[in-house]
Amino acid sequence: MNFEPTLTFAQAQDQSDSLREMRKEYLFPHQQGKPYIYLCGNSLGLQPKVARKILGEQLDNWQNLAVEGWFEGDAPWMYYHKALKKLMAPLVGALPAEVCPMNTLTVNLHLLLVSFYRPEGKRFKIIMEAGAFPSDQYAIESQVRFHGYNPEEAIIEVAPEEGEYLLKTSAIVAAIEKNAADTALVLFGGINYFTGQWFDMPAITTAGHQAGAIVGFDLAHAAGNVPMNLHDWGVDFACWCSYKYQNAGPGGISGIFVHERHFNRQMNRFAGWWGYQESTRFKMEKGFVPEAGADGWQVSCTQVMPMALYHASLHLFEKAGGITALRNKSKTLTSYLLFIINEVNKNLNQEIFKVITPLSEAERGAQVSIIAKVNGKQIFDGLVANQVLGDWREPNVIRLSPVPMYNSYEDVYQTGQLLYQLAKQYDQL
Ligand SMILES: *Cc1c(COP(=O)(O)O)cnc(C)c1O
Repeated sequence: MNFEPTLTFAQAQDQSDSLREMRKEYLFPHQQGKPYIYLCGNSLGLQPKVARKILGEQLDNWQNLAVEGWFEGDAPWMYYHKALKKLMAPLVGALPAEVCPMNTLTVNLHLLLVSFYRPEGKRFKIIMEAGAFPSDQYAIESQVRFHGYNPEEAIIEVAPEEGEYLLKTSAIVAAIEKNAADTALVLFGGINYFTGQWFDMPAITTAGHQAGAIVGFDLAHAAGNVPMNLHDWGVDFACWCSYKYQNAGPGGISGIFVHERHFNRQMNRFAGWWGYQESTRFKMEKGFVPEAGADGWQVSCTQVMPMALYHASLHLFEKAGGITALRNKSKTLTSYLLFIINEVNKNLNQEIFKVITPLSEAERGAQVSIIAKVNGKQIFDGLVANQVLGDWREPNVIRLSPVPMYNSYEDVYQTGQLLYQLAKQYDQL
């Protein structure tokens, strides 16, 4: 597509955007009556207007049915998660039985590592990306220690080449092949939180399996952002949070994926009563018998309120025509942001804003990470002061995420105008 750096062009794009009405389903933060341009859906997605109503329904059920709400009413809490499974599955390309909403993300990562990191003999290493989200680093490090290994020896981090930000698939595959004999697990982010790089998940999965390892992904920045086919790719396990691109609210419920080939009841896990076989759960008998499928990894009883919020949000993914429709808009919208940043640099006569996110569509989702040559923090603060919310990641990165669900081409255009003005102001060019 031929983009133009004009307001007229951006507004015309919005006019012909088939998803433009979706924006009206969300609540934008305001100041003095003016809504923010919100480019931070990679960190905390906006509140769906319907969330208050759907949460309210469950508060009513709690009020009116109290304990009977578990088995009574039009959506008994005992089975509440099942409706979510159907809506979650297409977002990650899974069978409904392979996914389950529960807990929070890092907790689920630990629970899944209990089942899927099974070091034995020489095979005890974990291959992961260097610069993974800190919570993942801490989780993996502590799991390795829990099994009695030294993280320095057991964790192999694949890092970009000197002076680069991105990881080449060939380097990831080479690291897996090189360590084939002693790798127990390959664990990657789907999309890296810092650079916005979308890793080649099928290639990593295939390489991991050829090496005889288990392959898992943390999809915090991928779920609800890019389409995936976890089942067909043969990924062993995955988990994600629902509060980033999936708009289910701060601390929202997490989702897990376990491939059906692992629906083996003998699999080791940290158990709790809610993972017990549903049909006989309330016999309260001794000896854990897991429910089949991903549900067998549940530990505590259903968190109805956070699930209600996730429910509210997932319906809007369906209404938007699913992840494929959103991704189609996302590709163009994000390309437009890259184009606009390039225009800003051109108008400033130098590359003030360096993009570290892959330029190729297939290697990124909605997030664009930029580094300002100088005065990055002041420029970022200037964006916020002018009601453009992205986020700042130490030491020097501004992350901007035009989310196809609720962002417009005009949002992107206006952000470019502001970046230009701020760069001029702070650099006294
Ligand atoms: C956001 C994010 C988390 C957050 O974990 P919580 O347990 O939900 O606080 C973890 N891992 C990655 C990769 C993330 O992007």
